[in-house]
This record gives sequence, structure tokens and C-alpha cells, in this order.
Amino acid sequence: MRNKKNFLLLIALAILSFCVAAPVKFSVELPAFEKISLTDLPSCQVIRIINGNTIVVDMNNQDIKVRLTGVKPAEKYRAELALFVKNLLKGEDVYIVNDADQNEPNKYDYYVYRVPDGLFVNAEIIRQGYGLADTTTPFKYMAEFKQLEEFAKERSKGLWDVSRLESISQPAPIILPKTSTQAGDVIVYVTKTGKKYHRAGCSYLSKSAVPMKLSDAQARGYSPCTKCNPPQ
Ligand SMILES: [Zn+2]
Repeated sequence: MRNKKNFLLLIALAILSFCVAAPVKFSVELPAFEKISLTDLPSCQVIRIINGNTIVVDMNNQDIKVRLTGVKPAEKYRAELALFVKNLLKGEDVYIVNDADQNEPNKYDYYVYRVPDGLFVNAEIIRQGYGLADTTTPFKYMAEFKQLEEFAKERSKGLWDVSRLESISQPAPIILPKTSTQAGDVIVYVTKTGKKYHRAGCSYLSKSAVPMKLSDAQARGYSPCTKCNPPQ
């Protein structure tokens, strides 16, 4: 009887360990893009990154504003997207291709390919989870871009990473100021959006706490918090 119990327990443990160790199966695969010949196109240099889906390139000494077709930023992931695009394209040469199906006059929508490796930048942004497929107007690769979005979502990449949201919702660490006898070196804290400065530990600092010299805080027009009554 006791042996049988142990045996069942062993089976249960074996099943459990199998479940834990089994690799996660993904169902979404990467879409296949048609091969296009890029080398016949004139390349142009990226001269500015305006935001996550808009850049400026130099084409024959003319500045051309380029909006990345089919890509839209996620509301709370704009800064990350802009940084990602900056890292991908700053100082690089690119090929830009109109979407014949989609382009209308006064639009600046292009597919952007990085010259050295032919990286399809629009697709890469969505594949890595830095941006979303913009489905407001139809474009040639809409189905593929939606699939890339599902791919990133299933693998919790970039903006789809839930642990990222948890880390954001935690309050910023409060750094205790070093004690100083010089009034100018007293450290106070401001928030990203507020107009007051605070002592360390003030409850108004739960969202953000940016350390700053008292003199700097005063010079920048912050006024003392009435709750924690910081030095003035
Ligand atoms: Zn305060």
C-alpha cells in the first residue's frame, strides 16, 4: 500500500517535471517577404530621426521626410521605439521604396531598407515588439505586418513583455541624500511632472523621484512641498 502511494507520487512528479521542462511551443511563424532587388535603387543617408516612425533622409542634397509605412508606435512605448530606430539607422544609408498600392499625393510613406544588410526596418520594428502594425489604411504587407505583431506578442518581445509593465508600476527607488553642511549641496527631489520639490521619502515621490541640488531646484522654479516641508 505504501509502495503504491510512493509509486503514484513518483509518476506525478515525473509528469510535473516534464511539464516544467517542456519547451514552450509557439504557433506564429515569421512571414515570408518577397525578395526585391534593392541594389538598383539610389541609396540615401539618414540625417535625422524625428520619432519612432518618421525620419529625414538626404536624397541628392534634398531633405526628404520619410514616414515608415505600416508602423505605428504603441502609446506607452514611444521613447523605446524612437531609441530603437535611432540605434538601427543613425549614420546609416538606406533605400526607400514607395508602396505603389498605398501611396497618395502629399504622403511620405516608404518602406525603408538598411543598405549594408538589407534589413527591412519597418518589419524589424514590429518583429522585435517595438511598434505595432498600422492597419488604418491598407498597404502591401499588411497581412505580413499583422503576423509579425502576433509573432512578437506570442514571444513577449518589447512592448509585449509583461514583466516590463510590472517594473514600471513599481515606485522609483528613493535615494537618501548625503548629509552636507553646505546649503547649496542639499539634495531635494522633484517629480517628472510636478512643480514642487520634496524631502526624500515624501509620499508624493511614489511615481518618480529625481534628485537635484536645492539651489538647482530653486533656480528652475520649483517651490517647496507643503507636506514634507523640505529645506528652503
Ligand atoms: Zn513633499
